[in-house]
Amino acid sequence: MAWLSPFMILIGMALLAAALPSISAILGKLGEGSLRTAWRYLRAMIMLFLAGYAGFAFLLLGAPVTAAELIVSAILMAGGAFVLIVARLSHLTTNDIVRIAALERDVMRDPLTGVFNRRYLDAKLDEETSRSRRSGQPLSTLVIDLDHFKHINDTYGHPIGDQVIRHVCALIAGQIRTVDTVVRYGGEEFVVVAPDSTVEAAAALGNRMIGSLNERILTLPDGTSLSVTASIGAAQYEPGETCLDFLARADGALYEAKRGGRNRLHMALPRQLAVAV
Ligand code: GH3
Ligand code: MG
Ligand code: MG
Repeated sequence: MAWLSPFMILIGMALLAAALPSISAILGKLGEGSLRTAWRYLRAMIMLFLAGYAGFAFLLLGAPVTAAELIVSAILMAGGAFVLIVARLSHLTTNDIVRIAALERDVMRDPLTGVFNRRYLDAKLDEETSRSRRSGQPLSTLVIDLDHFKHINDTYGHPIGDQVIRHVCALIAGQIRTVDTVVRYGGEEFVVVAPDSTVEAAAALGNRMIGSLNERILTLPDGTSLSVTASIGAAQYEPGETCLDFLARADGALYEAKRGGRNRLHMALPRQLAVAV
């Protein structure tokens, strides 16, 4: 029976070593930070355990084994199994979390342009309107709609229409600040949420977008040059109004911009004035 104790310790060592690839895989999925450091410490501790197990097995070799040593060896073997199970489960859990995070990201993104979609806008507007109410800081939105887009689709075809949508979206995304959010609201319609911005500041941003669109001519794969214009409605949030009303005012301003001849921006009136007019 003298072999039994070292044998159990060897099995424990094999189990500990088998846990290491799972921990390396977890480390590969974690960015730099305290969690990654903690897993690194855990890996170092397993190495330390391995050295301890080997030392204990070496001491037992050739000597008669006591009942206490037999029990300790069995516990060390079970410890190895425990570490392996925890490492494997942690790896599986990490994979699931990474998958769920990717799904969540996709659910909030528009597949054509890669920017956020309407589902995200609802959550974002809720968050930003509450923040604006609490802080008293202004909050504005722009509703951007491409002009005569149906004509572009009808003339050049849907795939080119898609290309135009991507082009305009990239142009909008390139003009906003990091605190702003651009959302594809519908087919050829975008919403920009601009925190800490008065309607005048948001309008200045919108007018810059209109200017850039007017300056840039889009060249299609067949060499055709295409110019695209957009109309924009801008509104500033008023504490007390719902997100729906806020967006509806920006949408109303967009309608005015369309009515005024397109390729322009219109600012929404404050609610009280809009009611009085
Ligand atoms: P207006 O200046 O009044 O905005 O005119 P418009 O033609 O842009 O307005 P309308 O809403 O009538 O047309 C929008 C078009 O956008 C109709 C639809 O076929 C097209 N559309 C919606 N989603 C997509 C899309 O994902 N890709 C493409 N290529 N076209 C789309
Ligand atoms: Mg349109
Ligand atoms: Mg539209």
